[in-house]
Amino acid sequence: MGNIAIDGPAGAGKSTIAKMVAKELGFIYVDTGAMYRAMALFMIKSGISTDKTEEISATCKDADITIKYENGEQVVYLNGENVNGQIRTEEVGNMASVSSANPDVRKKLVELQQKLAKTTDVVMDGRDIGTVVLPDAALKVYLTASSKVRAERRFKELTAKGVECDIDVIEKDIIDRDYRDMHREFSPLKQADDAILVDSSDMTIDEVAKKIIELYKTV
Ligand code: C5P
Repeated sequence: MGNIAIDGPAGAGKSTIAKMVAKELGFIYVDTGAMYRAMALFMIKSGISTDKTEEISATCKDADITIKYENGEQVVYLNGENVNGQIRTEEVGNMASVSSANPDVRKKLVELQQKLAKTTDVVMDGRDIGTVVLPDAALKVYLTASSKVRAERRFKELTAKGVECDIDVIEKDIIDRDYRDMHREFSPLKQADDAILVDSSDMTIDEVAKKIIELYKTV
């Protein structure tokens, strides 16, 4: 029937929900954030700091990023290495929100994303899926939640993993990252004109997934 695009700020629950929706509908889940994170990891490994943005264009040419599906999970390969275990840190997330503002990085990864969606039905999440990557998606959802709720969710996640953290620092990081994503020149995060707004602040994950599946059945 067509693709589903889910955009929204960090920590709104996009990936968990997109995965559930994809499973229910038998679609492939494409996590575009993981691709930007793999690119950010490459920048960190290449010794580029977040204030050296002019070096990012040249460096990204040497990063070969590919996606495979292994046991139903998306695996990201960076120059032949499975980097799934290295891309979920705050350091990589913060670098990703800087390096993803670079037009050469975006061009390279958008091409890869569009190629994936051409051959199969996908649920794709990110920041610019409804606006740039899949402008003809059958359903577009803009999924958000307050920064306070998003920080609380992240805090719980990290604490459960035994990571010591400060909720105020997490909320500040979220607000800073939102600002960078929404104010960059190329493909800023914004709700597509034809996207449906879903605020998950007071909803459970199951409720949000159910709502998106219902919306899809009506399009
Ligand atoms: O969603 P996630 O937090 O994994 O994404 C990491 C970063 O990658 C985001 O902060 C954002 O800057 C960038 N990103 C993007 N466009 C996408 C997906 C992610 O710019 N489609």
